[in-house]
Amino acid sequence: MALIVQKYGGTSVGSVERIEAVADRIAKNHATGDQLIVVVSAMSGETNRLLGLASDLTPDPSPRELDVLVSTGEQVSMALLSMALHERGIPALSLKGSQVAIRTDSFHNKARIQSIDDRRLRSELAAGKVVVVAGFQGVDENGETTTLGRGGSDTSAVALAAAIKADECQIYTDVDGVYTTDPRVVDGARRLESITFEEMLEMASMGSKVLQLRSVEFAGKYSVPLRVLSSFKEGPGTLISMDEDNVMEAPTIAGIAFNRDEAKLTVIGVPDTPGVAYQILGPIGEANIEVDVILQNVGDEGKTDFTFTVARNDLEKAERILDSYVDDLGAMEWRSDSKIAKVSVVGVGMRSHAGVAANMFKALAEVGVNIQMISTSEIKISVIIEEKFLELAVRTLHSAFGLDQEETGEDNS
Ligand code: ADP
Ligand code: ASP
Ligand code: MG
Repeated sequence: MALIVQKYGGTSVGSVERIEAVADRIAKNHATGDQLIVVVSAMSGETNRLLGLASDLTPDPSPRELDVLVSTGEQVSMALLSMALHERGIPALSLKGSQVAIRTDSFHNKARIQSIDDRRLRSELAAGKVVVVAGFQGVDENGETTTLGRGGSDTSAVALAAAIKADECQIYTDVDGVYTTDPRVVDGARRLESITFEEMLEMASMGSKVLQLRSVEFAGKYSVPLRVLSSFKEGPGTLISMDEDNVMEAPTIAGIAFNRDEAKLTVIGVPDTPGVAYQILGPIGEANIEVDVILQNVGDEGKTDFTFTVARNDLEKAERILDSYVDDLGAMEWRSDSKIAKVSVVGVGMRSHAGVAANMFKALAEVGVNIQMISTSEIKISVIIEEKFLELAVRTLHSAFGLDQEETGEDNS
């Protein structure tokens, strides 16, 4: 008898019909005698709808009330799925984050899980129940509802799997695994049988939203066996492997990730003196704005152009901050650009293969894509380009690194 955590995303529970299909799948698993904890997302579009209602009322909603609001989405799906399971004769029980209890810190809208009490879960499982848990939500030490950031149900599932030492955590979604790149953007994208945990971490942090980054971090920290599968069709999905040697297909590049969520700020003509980077980025960091790629160029006259990127939804805040001290820096001016995108090639094989960067830059040059900024780590190379070239760049790199599916390859619908 195995202990499995399954998570169903928004599209997978997006309608009554989809909830019925999920209930049928759970019923089959239950019949084998496996113990199941099922984590659900809100029905697709629901979290955005709720956020939209809030922003119709106020440009600056209270973070606490936002959590009270958006956490309702998952509560709808957990109750409906439990009812569908009851209809199939399965003893199911839905639990909110607070009922489990999934304890988090108090940072509303981006809370982090601190601990999970497994007693209720274990006693319900021992009583033969399928436990359906609301994803994305937790409770802080004062009993306040918190949420874990967009896509946070993945993290709920992995954290629950870690807490109860599940045999596997299965993330059911609307694609049948992790692909070499987003299959909605590149037709020839290929499903990977397995991907190393390290590569998945880079893919997620570089923008592949198939798994929330924090869920991958959790899986690594607590060695949770993790698999991404389709809730729409049968198949093996993709195993996120902790052991690099287990990954049979070991091409230099595992995949290509991209992200449209960044914006670029450039401070022009800053005197090239010690402390400039700190003077520019210190106040940005103090305002809790994360900086991603940084580029500094010293020109002839001892003046520096300093460019950095931030999340697009932090741009306005960053602009206000820059504006408040740019004169004190002795800079000539500053500019911002939100029409950028980041494309990254990721692969552990890069460690032992030279020339990946050169191949990447050559392929982009051949299709006329200008590279504005570059950043690298041991297993990834990222470039910032103009947003309008994003799809062209991803498709070009996918072919250039030999990732395209063979004509006779598998169906990736
Ligand atoms: P869910 O609602 O189930 O959590 P998400 O929309 O969060 O689903 O994640 C699944 C989506 O991730 C897919 O529909 C796909 O468009 C996108 N995606 C991005 N990069 C990849 C990738 N490398 N492999 C698979 N899917 C990807
Ligand atoms: N419903 C939340 C969201 O849309 C959490 C999730 O689906 O994982 O971000
Ligand atoms: Mg998701």
